[in-house]
Amino acid sequence: MPMPTSVKTSSDYPIPETMQAWVLGDPGQLTLEDKPVPSPARAEVLVRIDAVAICATDLEIIHHGPPAQIKGGQPFNKGFTPGHEYMGTVVALGPGVDEYAIGERVTVEIHAGCGQCKRCRQGMYTSCHNYGKNYGDVDKGHRANGFTTDGGFCEYQVNNINTLVHVDDTMSDEEATLVVTAGTAMYGLTELGGLVAGESVVVTGPGPIGLLGVAVAKALGAQPVILTGTRDNRLEIGRKLGADHVINVRKEDPVEAVRRLTEGKGVDYVVECSAAANAVNEAAQMVNRGGKICLAAFPHEAPPVDIAHLVRNNIYIYGIRGEGKTATHRAEAFMRQKRFDATLIHTHTFDMEDLPEALRYAKDRVEDAIKVVVKNKHAQQQQVAAE
Ligand SMILES: [Zn+2]
Ligand SMILES: [Zn+2]
Repeated sequence: MPMPTSVKTSSDYPIPETMQAWVLGDPGQLTLEDKPVPSPARAEVLVRIDAVAICATDLEIIHHGPPAQIKGGQPFNKGFTPGHEYMGTVVALGPGVDEYAIGERVTVEIHAGCGQCKRCRQGMYTSCHNYGKNYGDVDKGHRANGFTTDGGFCEYQVNNINTLVHVDDTMSDEEATLVVTAGTAMYGLTELGGLVAGESVVVTGPGPIGLLGVAVAKALGAQPVILTGTRDNRLEIGRKLGADHVINVRKEDPVEAVRRLTEGKGVDYVVECSAAANAVNEAAQMVNRGGKICLAAFPHEAPPVDIAHLVRNNIYIYGIRGEGKTATHRAEAFMRQKRFDATLIHTHTFDMEDLPEALRYAKDRVEDAIKVVVKNKHAQQQQVAAE
């Protein structure tokens, strides 16, 4: 179907009626299929997808299902396209949209809440009370790309303007896919209170969010920033991103090391990104009395937690979901100012057509893969033609 006449398009960016999209069948099974190009509604734009970063949560969804929720249930065999860390170019404007222009490069936040529930009204749209309600009689307009609605492993996607972040020309497509990861780290620090200048922070787990958590904490002025992990090569990247100290937990006890580095006091904040079974208990031993812990990773099992220690020491624990409170805009501002080099965590690039191989690199950490990005070669061809 061609775009409705109320949608603004441009001859510079011809939009086909169908596109290639990766579709999830049974667990672990993706096939490349033709799908209609969606058209943007009010307050939405159509984004031509130029690059998508693969996230550990994509692997969770593709192999196990949750936290994706399609039509109220598992995402399998429903024609669902995963992928949520993407950037691209605005190619069509929904009715009334003048906030963005055709041809503008944008990176995309994952969650557009319903906009009408209590949490959305508070800016906590990643905790929307109408999560997953976007179909049939329960359609509240909620969107979470690649979680509750189609995501970015395809050529075009519609997005609410509230989820878009302008991308500066000095930022590569690959780097722009990392804005939402930095935004998640920024949201964690926002929830912990935000003003971490001069305060001590431990980040546990040098995955993408942990590594950019180090970078954001340092850019916000935290001192010292301590990173713990099991792999020296990742800890080394953490140093380049601003960690004052790194601790390899295979070589020394992280709680003792943190205490030693803080004159026995412990730190003010722990950002937990490891999902290790004993992570909460260790974090509770690393923070000082009255300190705060942010949980940004989740283990599969339900590990025992020493609650008495938390209570006796007035320790606060926050769970964060995604990239709320427009934290992504603040993260992008740091990246635009080159306050840290997020591309240090980007290790591999594949063509979108080679998504299964790209997913294998991310899953098995082939060649020490951290962030693997897939690019839409049709977009690149269009770009060359336009120049
Ligand atoms: Zn992600
Ligand atoms: Zn909501």
